[in-house]
Amino acid sequence: MKVIKAELEKVAVHEEQYPPEDIYEFAFAGRSNVGKSSFINAMLNRKNLARTSSTPGKTRTINFYRVNDDLRLVDLPGYGYAKVSKSEKSTWSGIINEYLEVRENLLEVILLVDIRHEPTAQDLQMFEYIIDSGYSGIVIATKADKISRGQYSKHVSTIAKKLGIKNKDMIIPFSSEKKDLVEEMWEIFEDIVKH
Ligand code: GDP
Repeated sequence: MKVIKAELEKVAVHEEQYPPEDIYEFAFAGRSNVGKSSFINAMLNRKNLARTSSTPGKTRTINFYRVNDDLRLVDLPGYGYAKVSKSEKSTWSGIINEYLEVRENLLEVILLVDIRHEPTAQDLQMFEYIIDSGYSGIVIATKADKISRGQYSKHVSTIAKKLGIKNKDMIIPFSSEKKDLVEEMWEIFEDIVKH
């Protein structure tokens, strides 16, 4: 898919602030600093539409990016930042739970994990929640350019094992630096929309 138009349509915390459920959405979850903003920027072919922040954990909002007036990519607040206080953590999970519980035009929730590291307990918790909610469990393994291609399979196996994924094709190594799989990712999303 060619991205002709991309805009940050809405920044929301609670349901009453969400944009209407008029077009389909794909949401992205993951630890702070995993590369979520970079992924969205790569997909939208923008350098800086989604904020990439040097202070991870700052964003406590759901950001709705409207693409070609056709679908939305939704950036969920990142989790797992050590310096966040307990009350902020509960705000974080409250924001995500509310969105996942009410959103009817949400087609997939996709987990992002760093290809270099074993997923954390929180990643597993998020992934189980995604599966329990009936989504297919696509995982994007970010920062793939930081390891050699020959190492992909080993790292993908580690991720699959920790998250309990049987079909390793569900784990997609992705580099926002190289942007070589952007077109393939759009094809995956478009296939999901069509089915
Ligand atoms: P977020 O907190 O999940 O939105 O993470 P960001 O997108 O802000 O990325 C965190 C850091 O990782 C930034 O310094 C990015 O430049 C870097 N980063 C993100 N994706 C990639 C990638 O695919 N390759 C490399 N080499 N660095 C990346």
